[in-house]
Amino acid sequence: MKRCTICNKIVTNDKREFKCPSCGKLTIIRCDDCEKAAKTYICKECGFVGP
Ligand SMILES: [Zn+2]
Ligand SMILES: [Zn+2]
Repeated sequence: MKRCTICNKIVTNDKREFKCPSCGKLTIIRCDDCEKAAKTYICKECGFVGP
């Protein structure tokens, strides 16, 4: 089960999944709610903060 990186909600839409644009190592998953609210995520690998 995949979970939103930001709020930990279960995500069923695979299109919400992307690699960190800075290091490309960490897979970031953002749910619909966080996408709409434009919440920021923090990459655990490199510390990149992105919208
Ligand atoms: Zn979320
Ligand atoms: Zn990163």
